[in-house]
Amino acid sequence: MVEIKKIFSNCPLCNKTMSIEIEKDLVLNSKKHLNPFVIEHCEKTILIHIDGNFKVRGTQVVFNAIITNKTDIN
Ligand SMILES: [Zn+2]
Repeated sequence: MVEIKKIFSNCPLCNKTMSIEIEKDLVLNSKKHLNPFVIEHCEKTILIHIDGNFKVRGTQVVFNAIITNKTDIN
């Protein structure tokens, strides 16, 4: 059974409180200090860093990049 943890964080764009749900095991089994999760809000992708105690350690708006083919590189 997948255990879900509910986390609250403010959107860096509209400042509204977002209620987000993450898979608990992703954080508990992680060896990293910060765990990145992405959500969609304000029509943007937002990156949320969550530490091992399920505390939000930062939010960032993510920009879109375009994948180019290897042959496009000069
Ligand atoms: Zn927002």
